[in-house]
Amino acid sequence: MVDAQARVALDRRWAGLPERARVPEQVIGKAFIGCEGTHGVFPRCNFTCSPCYHSSDANHVRVDGGHTRTAVEQQMVLLRSTRGPHAHAQLIGGEVSLLDADDHAAALQVMERFGRVPMSFTHGDFDYDYLERIVLDEQRRPRLAKISFAAHFDITMRGRRSVPRPRTERDLDQARHDFCSMFDRLRSEHGVASFLAHNMTVTPGNLDQIPDTVRACRSAGFSMLSFQPAAYMGDSRRWRADYRSFSSDEVWAQVEAGIGARLPWRVMQYGDNRCNRTAIGVCFGQRWVPLLDDAEPADLQVRDLYYQRFGGANMGATAPALFAVKLARLLIRRPALAAVGVRWLSRVVRRAGGLNRVIGCARRREIRPLTFAMHSFIDADAVGPAWELMRRGEASDDTRVRAAQERLEACVYHMAHPETGELIPACVQHSVLDPAENRTLRSLLPLIQP
Ligand code: SF4
Repeated sequence: MVDAQARVALDRRWAGLPERARVPEQVIGKAFIGCEGTHGVFPRCNFTCSPCYHSSDANHVRVDGGHTRTAVEQQMVLLRSTRGPHAHAQLIGGEVSLLDADDHAAALQVMERFGRVPMSFTHGDFDYDYLERIVLDEQRRPRLAKISFAAHFDITMRGRRSVPRPRTERDLDQARHDFCSMFDRLRSEHGVASFLAHNMTVTPGNLDQIPDTVRACRSAGFSMLSFQPAAYMGDSRRWRADYRSFSSDEVWAQVEAGIGARLPWRVMQYGDNRCNRTAIGVCFGQRWVPLLDDAEPADLQVRDLYYQRFGGANMGATAPALFAVKLARLLIRRPALAAVGVRWLSRVVRRAGGLNRVIGCARRREIRPLTFAMHSFIDADAVGPAWELMRRGEASDDTRVRAAQERLEACVYHMAHPETGELIPACVQHSVLDPAENRTLRSLLPLIQP
């Protein structure tokens, strides 16, 4: 079930991880190559957020579909050749919906052509008409079978047409629901499926509003709720408040309060725990249930078997029927594996409240996958010196800078630089490389064309 090229890429990834990150729960290099993102392909944004991770020149760069298509393709060539035949990649930069719909669709198709599962990053302030134009060709036939968006909604943002200056997270709930509704309509009118993630930057101003936001979003239509504690990164004119006045544990506790369950994130490690936490689960009605619980030894055995047997398998690209056949064949050949799977499923059902309750939820269509994630960027004043020393092969003796180096070494989120052949951690991209890159783009793509 695992492509040979994918296996080679995973093994190379594992070998490249620092020793301290090669722990049994590490998913990178065992089952997942990591995330990818584009850069410098459409730097401009029409919102003003505080903080904003774009450099101060970003809004002086014209959105240019030709440039986007070319740059995305060049970056995908490098990602495909260095990271294997499939991965999740984010179409990210400034605001993706400023792209012409045809250019947006073309960029997604390029990414798919290189084996990537693309996800567009947006503020979500666009209309159904735009979404439809991305997805449909000139004959109004779907040109994309599935579409993924990560939508940023929180009170750090300014410029949304319906709520230009939200005072509380609750002010944004209607916009969140309206965003998801567009994708429901897309599916019912054109049969195009979607995966939606909700992104929320966390500051001292909205930390205690996380539980309400989780409750508002849990059944809105998002399959992932992701939280980013604010970092001192990007445009320093937009830094507000003391972003270091709360910890990752406090953010996670607020998310747990919102969903009403413990979120077991230690079962799978994505790179470095100081960067990422993830808890994968399913909502059965109002009850969220983890698929793997880090306090359950039998679940850890399931995780290890999954890494061994299915790590690197491109399940999303296999037709469900074909995947079921392959899985059935494997389980017939390996009945012990089937027994582990049955016991695991029975544990999930028990956590959900028993078989009758699961059947009832299924009848009412109240079962939906919901993953929680937290991604904590590193402050630019630590990334800069950390990266400079790493380029020279030196370890810092400053505790904070050394911690940044350790995290960058285990980074799971890379951006491709075809001009040098390098893959660069996103923290380095935003903190070190973006300013010069955007200055160059500003000359190449001025707002006012000569
Ligand atoms: S981009 Fe930065 S915060 Fe994210 S995984 Fe890489 S080093 Fe960690």
